[in-house]
Amino acid sequence: MTQTGKTDSKHITHWIGGKPFDGVAERRGDIYEPATGRVAGTVDFASGSEVDAAVAAAKAAFPGWRDASLTKRTRVLFRFRELLTEHRDEIARLISAEHGKVVSDAAGEVARGLEVVEFACGIPHLLKGGFSENVSTRVDAYSILQPLGVVAGITPFNFPAMVPMWMFPVAIACGNTFVLKPSEKDPSASVRIAELWAEAGLPEGVFNVVHGDKTAVDGLLDHPDVRAVSFVGSTPIARYIYETAAGNGKRVQALGGAKNHMVVLPDADLDLAADAAVSAGFGSAGERCMAISVVVAVEPVADELLAKVRERVAKLSIGPGDDPESDMGPLVTAQHRDKVASYLDSGVAQGATLAIDGRGTPVRGGAGEGFWLGPSVLDHVTPDMDAYKDEIFGPVLSVVRVGSYEEAMEVISANPYGNGTAIFTNDGGAARRFQNEVEVGMVGINVPIPVPMAYYSFGGWKDSLFGDSHAHGMEGVHFYTRTKAVTARWLDPSHGGVNLGFPTNG
Ligand code: NAD
Repeated sequence: MTQTGKTDSKHITHWIGGKPFDGVAERRGDIYEPATGRVAGTVDFASGSEVDAAVAAAKAAFPGWRDASLTKRTRVLFRFRELLTEHRDEIARLISAEHGKVVSDAAGEVARGLEVVEFACGIPHLLKGGFSENVSTRVDAYSILQPLGVVAGITPFNFPAMVPMWMFPVAIACGNTFVLKPSEKDPSASVRIAELWAEAGLPEGVFNVVHGDKTAVDGLLDHPDVRAVSFVGSTPIARYIYETAAGNGKRVQALGGAKNHMVVLPDADLDLAADAAVSAGFGSAGERCMAISVVVAVEPVADELLAKVRERVAKLSIGPGDDPESDMGPLVTAQHRDKVASYLDSGVAQGATLAIDGRGTPVRGGAGEGFWLGPSVLDHVTPDMDAYKDEIFGPVLSVVRVGSYEEAMEVISANPYGNGTAIFTNDGGAARRFQNEVEVGMVGINVPIPVPMAYYSFGGWKDSLFGDSHAHGMEGVHFYTRTKAVTARWLDPSHGGVNLGFPTNG
């Protein structure tokens, strides 16, 4: 529970059984407005009884939703898609106010979530099982994909709309019912989305939202009626979720943190590479799991590349997310801003050069009490420095200078994370070698944020993902269903009578 300061009228509560929770929460947290630093409202924190109520609502809704025809399910999904499209800007503004990212960026995340809804609209095709006629004489075999039951999603602050939408459109389309525990830092978008589901005709209890902290999460991980858990967040929590949920017999996919390297080879188009490094390093103030946090410059390109990065950073506008002239907003909390800024000091103390210091960068309309930190670049970073080892998750780009492609690959391979990476080169052979060798789940070639489309799956390797399935795409369908194999004989008078032998095909 956090201290409750001055608030205006905003109060966010759970969404259970198709309506807002009508009880009185024992605990609440503050919702901040990062651009001003003020407390903009409060959010209820679920205790065990609220988690139980949400899971019970989802459990009660499951038989009806599982048996709803594919036509009915897809009609609801199509209506939800229309409503989401209609309210995209409104949701983007809710996100921007609580997260800090600029409205256009927030609208982009809603759009990427919408793509998963659109993918899920094709669920009748995706749920087709296999059929083999006459596997034995007049015996057929087929497979059916069935939903699991109540499934839960636990999501991070940095994509309050898109990341939940990696999960619930596919889960619900497959016939499951869903309990979402979004980040307590920016909870409003999830409730607005729940209202849109209701308006789209989703039966009550199919989609529920509980807010809160570890208490709510543990309530879901320990609940015997939750069959599967999808998690996205930092690596230590992802590991905890994976171990706890799997220990409780649940299916689990837990996506963790990242340290994404962008290799720039000497033959690269350096203007393209500099545009990419600045866009993917400082977009959303670096608070993206696919942000580029390390540029691995293969010499002799570092000085020229850095000069181009400087030119571009000088033109960036820092300001409130709802100011259309802002390129980059504030960080999510004051504590996070301070932690991110501390790497500028520790980097220099450990031998790096502060090529661009974002502290004190002018803010449109004035910095006030907002959680600001401008784009910063640490040069001559080496893998033993804290700024390299930790996931900074802020607008700090590190430049590691290496002598060769092989050295660049060694740096990436030794890093424990394996979420995303990119290579910038005009050499097709080098790019192909990179995509083949690199131990990272998502790879960009002359593309800085290689976020896979909805019909591919999203997920990293190594400490960036615990579990077997990536998010959405066919891996999402696989995660949210279980397969039943049926062998059937009909109208076969010559079945051969009693036979105690092991069945063979004939
Ligand atoms: P976080 O791990 O702090 O929180 C994620 C979720 O876990 C939230 O809902 C939070 O309430 C809950 N949580 C926090 N502490 C917990 C605890 N001790 N026990 C149980 N639950 C707990 O992450 P965050 O700060 O919200 O988000 C940023 C992180 O998410 C970064 O590390 C980023 O890389 C990662 N991320 C990864 C991906 C990916 O696809 N791999 C995508 C987005 C974000």
